[in-house]
Amino acid sequence: MVAAPSSSLLVSIDRVHAARAVADELGVDLLVVTPGSDLRYLCGYSAHAMERLTALAVPRRGEPLLVVPRLEVPMVEASPAGALGLEVLAWDETDDAFARLAEAVTARLGARPTRIAVGNRTWAEHALGVQRAMPGAALELASPVIDRLRMVKTPAEVEELALAGAAIDRVHAAMAGWLRVGRTEAEVGADIAAAILAEGHVSVDFTIVGSGPNGASPHHELSDRVVQAGDLVVVDIGGETATGYRSDCTRTYVVGGAAAPDVAEWYAVLQQAQEAATAAVRPGVTCEQIDAVARDVIIEGGWGEHFIHRTGHGIGLDTHEAPYVVAGNDLPLEPGMAFSVEPGIYLAGRCGARIEDIVVCTDDGVRNLNGGPRELVELPG
Ligand code: ZN
Ligand code: ZN
Repeated sequence: MVAAPSSSLLVSIDRVHAARAVADELGVDLLVVTPGSDLRYLCGYSAHAMERLTALAVPRRGEPLLVVPRLEVPMVEASPAGALGLEVLAWDETDDAFARLAEAVTARLGARPTRIAVGNRTWAEHALGVQRAMPGAALELASPVIDRLRMVKTPAEVEELALAGAAIDRVHAAMAGWLRVGRTEAEVGADIAAAILAEGHVSVDFTIVGSGPNGASPHHELSDRVVQAGDLVVVDIGGETATGYRSDCTRTYVVGGAAAPDVAEWYAVLQQAQEAATAAVRPGVTCEQIDAVARDVIIEGGWGEHFIHRTGHGIGLDTHEAPYVVAGNDLPLEPGMAFSVEPGIYLAGRCGARIEDIVVCTDDGVRNLNGGPRELVELPG
């Protein structure tokens, strides 16, 4: 096989055609996807969302088309989307872009669509503009169509996630240089953010440094709290790589002294839960079963009421995407599904701990995209 740049491995017209096939299977007449990760996934165009309409329109029959403001046609041509052979419908400043889209779609379908699926994060003004231009159509979310494709990563996508995971592992491995007694969470977070960029990400999605009692708030980011000797510190960090794929990894540290005597006992329960849930990953096991494996260990250890969130989330071009590893989701895992396994135990007012890896379901088990110690990591302070 000839070596190809990664962007050409990551995007092809096949994705647009696959979306069309799923839409047709589900009885959706038209899929409309505006700037964001769905658009980038389907056709490789990463445009900024704005008031002017940019949309990939995929009717269930006929060729898909990319509707763009004429002034942005050069940007489409310069993007991976420009090489896909997609028809581009350029609209002028005084055109009604929605009417142009409706006209093109109706011509392909031979009738007005009755079911239109719009991207979950499509702006309301665009979704309603689409509906206004095709009266009588019911709007619905595009996630049943698009998630089915996005959830199952190709080997090239898995390699992008693996690169992101290795980069964030290197940041965690250097934590002793920044996470020290006497520094504020904000100071530590600024150093971590710089390291995330230095390790090859193009942007920082989040830096959670939850020291002491702040660690009990799972989505705490940064504050001016000063790290104290003996603090548990939850560090959950991630960013976006050049190809759009994301990292997300949590380790829990104890800084400048020993943790309180009971911590080792419940941290061991947490680590066992995370290991067991990871080991349970294989094709056919459902998302809620993975959640239950982690949760049951923590419940049996007596800490169930302190595990206050789902076990994980899918990851790809978004940090949080399908599949969600949560009770009630009976979706069976398939090879190529990538998601976090991140149980936590949170003691309100005191401290918390979480262990998070990104894993991929393989043909016969699991591949972990993060390394490094999952034990409570002792830093000298
Ligand atoms: Zn995380
Ligand atoms: Zn996560």
